[in-house]
Amino acid sequence: KPIVAIVGRPNVGKSTFFNYLAGRRISIIDDTPGVTRDRIYAESEWRGRKFTIIDTGGIEPNTDDYIKQQMIQQAHIAIDMAHVIIMLVDVKTGLTALDEEVANILRKADKPVLLAVNKVDNPGQPPADIYEFYNLGMGEIYPISSIHGLGIGELLDAVYEHFPSAEELSEDEDAIKVAVIGRPNVGKSSIINRILGEERVIVSDIPGTTRDAIDTHFEVNGKRYVFIDTAGIRRQSRVDDEIEKYSVLRSWAAVDRADVCLIMLDARDGVTEQDTRIAGYAHEQGKASIIVVNKWDLVEKQTGTLEEYRKKVGQDLEYMNYAPIVFVSAKTGQRVHRLFELIDYVFDQASLRIQTGVLNDVLNEAIAMVQPPSDKGKRLKIYYMTQTGIRPPSFVLFVNDAELMHYSYERYLKNTLRSNFGFEGTPIWFTVREKG
Ligand code: GDP
Repeated sequence: KPIVAIVGRPNVGKSTFFNYLAGRRISIIDDTPGVTRDRIYAESEWRGRKFTIIDTGGIEPNTDDYIKQQMIQQAHIAIDMAHVIIMLVDVKTGLTALDEEVANILRKADKPVLLAVNKVDNPGQPPADIYEFYNLGMGEIYPISSIHGLGIGELLDAVYEHFPSAEELSEDEDAIKVAVIGRPNVGKSSIINRILGEERVIVSDIPGTTRDAIDTHFEVNGKRYVFIDTAGIRRQSRVDDEIEKYSVLRSWAAVDRADVCLIMLDARDGVTEQDTRIAGYAHEQGKASIIVVNKWDLVEKQTGTLEEYRKKVGQDLEYMNYAPIVFVSAKTGQRVHRLFELIDYVFDQASLRIQTGVLNDVLNEAIAMVQPPSDKGKRLKIYYMTQTGIRPPSFVLFVNDAELMHYSYERYLKNTLRSNFGFEGTPIWFTVREKG
């Protein structure tokens, strides 16, 4: 999916613009705890093409609060992550020195930048004031009103023209795409370097698109894998990644492209709130996941330590109880080789297809064991179910009345599917549909 970044001074209307675009997205309802995206990362769609929007203004540097520094930061994040950049300015305040400075940075980058002039009430007949923005030397300008949603179609048409072709975005289909995600300092780069440093691993330099440069392609035992977005991770001085929110943002973008997520925890800290957020996003996006507890060498062990730890992590990440948990040390290399068996395993599990006949035998048995819920004398009837997709395994259940379906009954059915077919490491998605 193409990534579009919004850059602009405070108060030019970035959030309004962002929310307008994000409001059009189809959202997946989920009750995952701890998942809020701070309205800085969302999906949108134009002319049938999905794209990701990021509001770089929502990321506050945790060092200095100076607006200028924040603006420069925004510009760099946009250049780093986005395929297309929208620079937003404000017709009411007019052109400022800061706008010029940001424009200078953006112009030098090798990325398409579109200049949108916000707060124009009637974009069809823009006021003469907007012409001064041509001085920024960014070519065409797009007058818009984010509040009223005007002029945005023309802007998005232009954005669309700059999207990389599906071909350019296309990934190595035969390789398993792995996102290594987690808080700063949990050991992401250590584990990646440990893996790539092993002799069984052949790191290849598949020439590809620009986006590919951020990924690491490699081979283990003749099978191909890609570590997604290792640019920030493998770099030694990770100035940008010092900023926590930005690293979360990168994690989200990596998750979107991944087949399998390695959710890394620091054994000394257990599951922190930020870990929950990161894991929650992988869950919400339907990705197969493995929970990797790193720095296991630093934990003092007695009999049962590992099992107790496993139980605790399982409780803290309850909604992810399908994910295997593995205890490793990037430092000593302990159990690191196990990761590839697990990656292959959860990938295969997430790719399982169950025949409709077999599926419905299991469904009928489950219904016979535990009666479906009822409300006001009306009982839920599930006529049949069918699998509609993989990664994640997705199913449609045809019922008499969708309102009668209960979260707890859904969970019961999912557990039944798991105990019959596995689906280890992957979320399962249900859609409940009424059949007349
Ligand atoms: P990242 O920010 O997630 O990429 O984390 P790094 O890989 O840079 O690791 C952060 C720090 O933890 C570094 O000082 C590493 O040497 C250390 N570290 C990483 N993995 C382990 C481990 O398994 N055991 C121990 N003892 N230290 C580790």
